Amino acid sequence: MTALLPLKTQPGWKVRFVDYPRQFRKMETEIMETIHSVLSQGDLILRRQLLDFESGFAEFVGTRFAVGLSNCTDAIHLSLRAAGIKAGDEVITVSHTFVATAAAIHHAGAVPVLVDIGDDHNMDVRLLEKAITPKTRAIVPVHLNGRLCDMDPLMTVAEKHGLIVIEDSAQALGASYRDKRGGSFGAAGCFSFYPAKLLGAFGDAGALTTHSEEIAEKVRSLRDHGRNKAGDIDGWSFNCRMDNLQAALLNLKLARLSECIARRREIARLYHERLSSVTELRLPPPPGASGIYYDVFQNYEIEAPQRDKLVSFLKEKGIEILIPWGGKGVHQFKALGLSDFELPRTERLFRNVLMLPLHTELTDDQIEYVSDVVRKFYGC
Ligand SMILES: *Cc1c(COP(=O)(O)O)cnc(C)c1O
Repeated sequence: MTALLPLKTQPGWKVRFVDYPRQFRKMETEIMETIHSVLSQGDLILRRQLLDFESGFAEFVGTRFAVGLSNCTDAIHLSLRAAGIKAGDEVITVSHTFVATAAAIHHAGAVPVLVDIGDDHNMDVRLLEKAITPKTRAIVPVHLNGRLCDMDPLMTVAEKHGLIVIEDSAQALGASYRDKRGGSFGAAGCFSFYPAKLLGAFGDAGALTTHSEEIAEKVRSLRDHGRNKAGDIDGWSFNCRMDNLQAALLNLKLARLSECIARRREIARLYHERLSSVTELRLPPPPGASGIYYDVFQNYEIEAPQRDKLVSFLKEKGIEILIPWGGKGVHQFKALGLSDFELPRTERLFRNVLMLPLHTELTDDQIEYVSDVVRKFYGC
């Protein structure tokens, strides 16, 4: 999602990829009141607003505990440590993810092992067993674009081989599989509140969810220099706390989350209605297409032939477009030393993938405009 960084405020965009100013204006009064109240009380680090957020968030996801953290990368890193991952262990994940997933595994001392994706752009669970070796300790499924991985077979493989599951749920807050929410299947779920995420903070923030009191306590200590409840130090650690101010603002937004998810699903439905007749495109399934999955559409990621020409055409028409992770999977970044994996489906994806704008501030007219421009490109 840091891929959003190069986007400058460029006059002339008719449709922004994310519209932070419009989002702010919608809630301006409440936001400013909250900031004023937090600052005037001096509630800055590990205060009540954070505890409120943690309990509200755990309740939403359906876990016993949530721990507020600095970002999702740290949530993955600390949960791997809390689950006992050690140097030399192998952890299975995918290449179609933000570099953060692999980086967190690396910083826990483990080796990322990458498996290919399926047509849903998520981990192809059928390939899991082939990737397991005597060193494998964990699986980090990445629930991408607001759709969960195929969790039943994944959990079956994990149980059969005694592997820990840590979910990268950065893009899947509120998504469910057989009525169970992302972040509540494994030993821990890891969430990002990066501003462009479904529940966006006004800066960086993240959280971990878990049913395990032991993991919650360990991560509470790990996020705060290893300091435990008794005031002793458990070991060398880090500073990965969530700012209390961010927690207070996230509380405001958490109260509106269901509304926001409903609008995202409505936009996805409208895109599907207007674009499904373009036979060249491969679209995500519309909301409700499967009884098993409840998708939240963090992104509207499509596959399109002549992708680069389509992107230029859309940009010329004032539509801001993103190609995920700058157009490369994790294994395609040479400096990371992960280029030995053979991931044909992932590589095919990166030749034709792009994301259309999907955020709660989009108007129906804008959705129609984007769809018309795409249809025009393909001559239909
Ligand atoms: C955004 C994202 C992350 C990292 O989240 P941060 O809060 O920026 O650390 C990790 N994984 C995925 C899939 C993401 O989209």
